[in-house]
Amino acid sequence: MRETAASEEHENVTRRTPSDVHDPGRPFFCAKCASPLRMMNRGGRERPICPLCGWTYYAKNATGAAVAITEQGRLLLVQRKYPPFAGSWTLPAGYVEYGDSACDTAVREAREECGLEVQLDGLAGVYFGADDPRDAAHLIVYAAHIVGGGLRPDDDAAQVEFFSPNALPEEIAFEGQRAAIRDWKQNHSTC
Ligand SMILES: [Zn+2]
Repeated sequence: MRETAASEEHENVTRRTPSDVHDPGRPFFCAKCASPLRMMNRGGRERPICPLCGWTYYAKNATGAAVAITEQGRLLLVQRKYPPFAGSWTLPAGYVEYGDSACDTAVREAREECGLEVQLDGLAGVYFGADDPRDAAHLIVYAAHIVGGGLRPDDDAAQVEFFSPNALPEEIAFEGQRAAIRDWKQNHSTC
């Protein structure tokens, strides 16, 4: 009986996200004193809170950074080698690590995923997606052009390829990426 109650509490903490978005990072235990957390209201939302010391878990969106590299009117995309959405295409992108800036991350991802040195030309847009099973995330997209390196897919990429606006692949992974690529297509279509 006690076990049932404990697992219900566990379930409660796991699934009840205020905005109905799955949060795989939601903790069961207090980060400060390791007590089991309870769902309680703070700041108008139900959050996991430590009944002993008051530590509160605030869920945060992740941040991704991407580059929209255009060469002769075509957009560079990377085909994902691994789940989630293996086989689907995205702009070269990665999570912004704690303490890193989005622009440094964008430049680094172009190097690591595609072997290219790029220069950023400015912000292309900020997008949001909640369909990545790892985290809901904002995606910061920079327009960029190539200044060096040589195009080659790295370990995480099955292929890297340039696509013209009317021949983009059907399978694009992640809501934020789809919106960013749709915007790029709109801005680069000739008719
Ligand atoms: Zn605590």
